[in-house]
Amino acid sequence: PGPRSPWLRNVRLTPQHRLLNHFITHPAEPIPPPAAPASSSPNPKPFTLAVKDNIATTSPNLPTTCASGILSRSYTSPIEATIIGQLRARGAVITGKTNLDEFGMGSHSIYSHYGPVTQDNPPETSAGGSSGGSAVAVANGEVELALGTDTGGSVRLPAAYTGIIGYKPSYGMISRYGVIPYANSLDTVGFLSRQIDPIKELIVGERGLWKEHDRNDPTSLTEAVRKRCAAQRKGYRSQQGQTTELKGLKFGIPLEYNIAELDLTIRDAWAAAAKRLQDVGARVVPVSLPTTKHALAAYYVIAPAEASSNLAKYDGIRYGVRDTDAPSDAAAGGVLYASTRGEGFGEEVKRRILLGSYTLSSEAMDNYFIKAQRVRRLVRRDFNRVFALDDPLQERVTFELSDLPEEVEMEDKWGPEEVDFLLCPTAPTLAPKLKEVMEKQPVDAYMNDVFTVPASLAGLPAISIPMKVTREGAAGLQLIGQYWDDARLLDVAGAVA
Ligand code: GLN
Repeated sequence: PGPRSPWLRNVRLTPQHRLLNHFITHPAEPIPPPAAPASSSPNPKPFTLAVKDNIATTSPNLPTTCASGILSRSYTSPIEATIIGQLRARGAVITGKTNLDEFGMGSHSIYSHYGPVTQDNPPETSAGGSSGGSAVAVANGEVELALGTDTGGSVRLPAAYTGIIGYKPSYGMISRYGVIPYANSLDTVGFLSRQIDPIKELIVGERGLWKEHDRNDPTSLTEAVRKRCAAQRKGYRSQQGQTTELKGLKFGIPLEYNIAELDLTIRDAWAAAAKRLQDVGARVVPVSLPTTKHALAAYYVIAPAEASSNLAKYDGIRYGVRDTDAPSDAAAGGVLYASTRGEGFGEEVKRRILLGSYTLSSEAMDNYFIKAQRVRRLVRRDFNRVFALDDPLQERVTFELSDLPEEVEMEDKWGPEEVDFLLCPTAPTLAPKLKEVMEKQPVDAYMNDVFTVPASLAGLPAISIPMKVTREGAAGLQLIGQYWDDARLLDVAGAVA
């Protein structure tokens, strides 16, 4: 592990904390939830929560750094993320802010200004990323729940590598207000826990977060749309609190996920999981998602493009720590901007900014960004064709045959073998050693996201649960559901886990 941040304030770290480097800020005293007003119902039962450090908190003991050198180590946000308020009102006791890949860009939590995260189960292994710090805090039993963000797999991948549960909700369900954006059209807030019940309770329990629209987040679904989505899901869910019967459900095995790079241990574990489902009376059928092989490339065009735009504001004038050595009157000439950004951003973030600026440039736009958007629609269409449930946001448009674009023509369902959920590994390998990851070419890490980005591109709910493997190390089994089928997905994950 890299050096512990010299900037941690007001911190009490155990030797293990220091070794794993999973917290950026860990105040000596946790931040208790606000007391409920006397008139309302009694205070909810408190639970401990760790928060990924790209989610804004307002306590002076909880600065928000995004693990970036461009934000001051003592930057305290003037606004609190909506999800933080929602969880504090439900009893969250915040123990600290967790380490991550800078701004969420990475798959192993190594690109942090504060040094890489590692886990010791097995020792010196990648915790996955970018929510690696949150995953380690949960896996170690230090907190009951942790918040992460999942743009292309950043909650599911670390959950798989650390042997816990990681859930990414349907896009637009959980407010992202106060979550520092990486790629807005993909970003979601995700939840990590060792048990499914705390997550289920928060999302679909009595005070279920699924109901809460946030007008501060323009992508938060309105109440009317939420109701419409929920109405379409009625009858599909068993009684609240009851587990869905696996018997009779149909699980799809996406054939395109059986890639050459898939570790044999993972492939065997995947097959064994499918077999266990069959043994309890579920049906398991092969399905085809033909656009899968292009999804990863499309993701690594779209996400950096959005990131390059989002990060433009960190120029040392509006946001970000100014490079004080740069002549300040030279801002117009770009010297101040360039030296601030050159000093402040880490190498992976710079790589993404360059990539994104290029694919959005007039010469490259049509070949990259526009094509990637097209692939994205095809990915969504692939999913819609294999799920038995309809996509509640899909508009049923009829076209004149002559102006039917190719991708609309194929919108029909795949056929009789439509499924309830897709079943696949979360990652193609077990968690690699940290040393191995740090020696590899940066783009090799992009490969780890091959099974998680399709659901992100399509905005679908997905969950990684621990999967038994025959070698030392943890692996994840991923379940993907149709849009807004989160309640059933959580039920089923609980029954499969
Ligand atoms: N590894 C992916 C990336 O670097 C996903 C990151 C995320 O979900 N925040 O873009």
